[in-house]
Amino acid sequence: MPPQKEVDRSYRMILRLSSSSRPRRLLSLALLLTSSQAMALNNEDGNGLEQAVPKAENLQLDQPVIKELGPPMGTTESTETAEAPSENSESDEQQSLPQAENLQLDQPIGELEPTSVTKKEPGVKSTAEPAPSVQNPSTGTISIEVEKAKPLRLLGAEVPPATSTRLAWSPSQHFEGVYSPTAVLVVNGAKPGPVLCLTAAVHGDELNGVETVRRVMYDLDAEQLNGAVIGVPIVNLQGFHRSSRYLTDRRDLNRHFPGDPNGSSASRIANSFFHEVISHCDAVVDLHTGSFYRTNLPQLRGDLSNPKIVKMTKGFGSTVVLHSAGAKGTLRRAAVEAGIPTVTLEAGAPMVLDERSVSHSVKGIRTLLNQLGMVSKFRLWGDPEPVYYNSTWQRSSTGGIIFSEVQLGEFVRKGDLLGTVTNPITNVRTEIRSEHNGRVLGMALDQVVQPGFAAYHIGIQAPQEQISKPQEVISEAPSAEKVQVQSNKPVESATDSAAELQGDRN
Ligand SMILES: [Zn+2]
Repeated sequence: MPPQKEVDRSYRMILRLSSSSRPRRLLSLALLLTSSQAMALNNEDGNGLEQAVPKAENLQLDQPVIKELGPPMGTTESTETAEAPSENSESDEQQSLPQAENLQLDQPIGELEPTSVTKKEPGVKSTAEPAPSVQNPSTGTISIEVEKAKPLRLLGAEVPPATSTRLAWSPSQHFEGVYSPTAVLVVNGAKPGPVLCLTAAVHGDELNGVETVRRVMYDLDAEQLNGAVIGVPIVNLQGFHRSSRYLTDRRDLNRHFPGDPNGSSASRIANSFFHEVISHCDAVVDLHTGSFYRTNLPQLRGDLSNPKIVKMTKGFGSTVVLHSAGAKGTLRRAAVEAGIPTVTLEAGAPMVLDERSVSHSVKGIRTLLNQLGMVSKFRLWGDPEPVYYNSTWQRSSTGGIIFSEVQLGEFVRKGDLLGTVTNPITNVRTEIRSEHNGRVLGMALDQVVQPGFAAYHIGIQAPQEQISKPQEVISEAPSAEKVQVQSNKPVESATDSAAELQGDRN
C-alpha cells in the first residue's frame, strides 16, 4: 500500500512547514486531507477521479421517514428495480412486478461465468422452445400436463419460468437504518410443478444445512426443472453472524412461527419470513443439526399421522425417519398447520460442517426432487426406501466427563456399553448401557455433562404404521431377533439400513 507511506511523508512535511501558528496548522491539515484523498483516488487505477460514480440519493435528513414496508430487493439489483416493488405493493397484487435477473445458479460465480453462459445458450434453446409451442396448440383436451409454467411472484419480484435468480428477504429495518437482507435463491423451472422450499440455519449455528442448500440450488437447471425450488441458506442471519443458535435477543426463532406482526422481535421476524417466503411453498424441508454438542445421524422428523408427510418422507430414499409433530412454534409445525407439508432434516452437529452429513442430505433432497417429478436426472438410491424408527433418549444419571464407546449410526444391543461418565473430582466412573436393541441415531459429543443430560438417542426400527411418538416407546424393548424380523418385512430394512450405514461412514 504505497499511498499510506506517501501520506505519512507529506503529513510530516506539512507538520514541519506549519511551525507553530494555529491558522497555518489548520490550513496544512486541510491541505493534508485534500492531498491524501486525491492520492487515494488516483492510486485506484489512474482514472479514479474521472470515472462516473452513481450519485447518492439526496435525503431530507431533517424530515422523518414515514415508512417503507415494501419488500426489499436483492442487494445486487440496480436502483430502479429496488424502488419498483414498494410502489407496486400499494396497489393490486396482480400488477406487473419487476422481472428478476436470470442468473446461472448452476454455474459458480467467477471467471468461469462468461464461458458457462455461452456454453448454456444453445442447450437452452433446444430444450425450452419446442416444449410450449408444440404442446399448446396440438392438444385441446389433455391440457393439464401441457400447461406452461407461470412466473413465480416472490419478494417483490417476478421470476419468469426457466430462470434462476437471487432475491433478498429482510425481516425488518433495524433502528440503525441498516438492512440485513437474507439471500433467497430461486430456480423457477421451464415446466409447471410444485414449489419446494429449502430452509437452513433457522438456528444460526447449524451449518450443514447452509452448505446443503448451496449444493442443491447451484446444481439445478431451470430448463430441466418442473416447478420451482426456493432455497434460503441462512434464515437466522443474526444468529449466524454470532455463531449462535438464537436471535440477538436470545430468543429461539424456531419457537415463534408463524409469528405475529405486532409481537416480539422474534415473532415479527418469524411472521415476515412465514408470509414472505413460506406461504409460497407447496412443501418445505427445514434443515437442522443436533443441538448443544450433540450430533445426529441424518434423519427426517415429520408428523407421520399426516399422509402427505408420510409421502414426503418416502421421497427421501434410504433415510432414517422419526415421528414427531414438532414443538409448538417450530417452522415445521406452523407450516403443516397452514397446510404445507413440511419435514425437518437433521444431520450432524452444530458449529461444524461435516461432509458425511452434507452429502447424505444433498442426496436425500435430490432423491425427493426426483420422487416429486421435479427433476429426472437424479437417480441415486436404487431402492429408495426410508427406514422408520421409534426412539428414546438415554440420559446420564451422573455428572462428569462423558466419553462414548459407540459411534453414530452404530447398531447396539441391550446392555451394550454406550459411554462412560467420570467425575473429575471424585474419580467415580459410571457407565451408560443401552436399554434397547436399536441404533444410535443421535449422541452427545465428548464433553462435560450434568446429571440428566440426554446423551444417546436410540432408535428402534419399526414399520411406518407402528411408529409412535418418541416418549411412548420407552417401556417396549423387543429382543434383537424381534427387531430384525419386525422391520425386515415391511420396510425391507436389512439391506437399506446396511447400505445407509455404509453411506454414513463414507
Ligand atoms: Zn436446529
